[in-house]
Amino acid sequence: MLMSGLIGDPVAHSLSPSMHNAAFQALGIDARYELWHTVTADLLLRIASLRAEGILGANVTVPHKGTVIPLLDDVSETARRIGSVNTVIARDGRLLGDNTDAYGFGRALGDVTGGTMPRSALVVGAGGASRAVLTSLQEAGVADIWLVNRTPERAEALAAELTEPGCPAIVAEPWSRLEEVASSARLVVNATSIGWHGDDLPFGAGIIDALPRDAVVMDLTYRLTAMLRLASGRGLRTVDGLPMLIHQGGRAFELWTGQNAPIEAMTQAVREAYAARA
Ligand code: NAP
Repeated sequence: MLMSGLIGDPVAHSLSPSMHNAAFQALGIDARYELWHTVTADLLLRIASLRAEGILGANVTVPHKGTVIPLLDDVSETARRIGSVNTVIARDGRLLGDNTDAYGFGRALGDVTGGTMPRSALVVGAGGASRAVLTSLQEAGVADIWLVNRTPERAEALAAELTEPGCPAIVAEPWSRLEEVASSARLVVNATSIGWHGDDLPFGAGIIDALPRDAVVMDLTYRLTAMLRLASGRGLRTVDGLPMLIHQGGRAFELWTGQNAPIEAMTQAVREAYAARA
């Protein structure tokens, strides 16, 4: 039997086993996806274990997404730009690191827009998820990308780091300009950690009111948040974070197996697992 799994600390909450085991089953692949709980002291040994026969690869989550890089034989250009690896592919005795979050974000957005990328985007939050979102927007050629964060220095540093020659610039804006920037944004992404509880909003409700009527509102949390409800109430197109999770998993699955990911089966499994948990 082939194996893959999730390396991180903690991992018990993950929806990935449901998603990937459903995919293996749908395609009749004799493989299993496991939770590989790994504390920092054990990371080296865990990564070495991926070189064994029958291992397809692994997903990597906090706190190892950056520290895993020097332990691998190579990393993709996207993973290098984002500065983190969420997928390791074991191929011909070598371990390759990739980051499928940017792909997952782009596919999730494309599902809502019919494949058209918005020409402007406002990203709120400057942590790890924001890096993947910004990289995806740059790779798609979105002309105007604005970044706002509670701690402005983090937004400024991230914008400077990701703005490289030959790709669209990311402009860090102060929180005080949020509403003004929102009035020109065809996409707004909540990439803060706000939204998992109750009716918490990442910013004032006025920001949703300020958006153009053709804007898309995306929340990286997996639930129908207060922000998404407000946006739907205004008639804006919305998407939560589950499609991004599913598409990043689908891409990892394709890199491991060389087969097209059965996205429908993965979606059903993830939604069932999430509903059972909620
Ligand atoms: P992170 O690295 O910890 O960054 C958290 C961000 O949220 C920072 O920008 C932080 O601002 C901001 N923030 C925290 N509390 C805030 C508050 N009270 N008001 C305003 N901003 C606040 O987290 P992450 O890994 O980027 O994850 C961000 C979100 O994306 C999480 O909800 C995570 O679950 C989700 N996510 C979803 C997917 C998916 O596939 N759907 C993938 C990855 C992550 P400061 O810099 O000021 O602290």
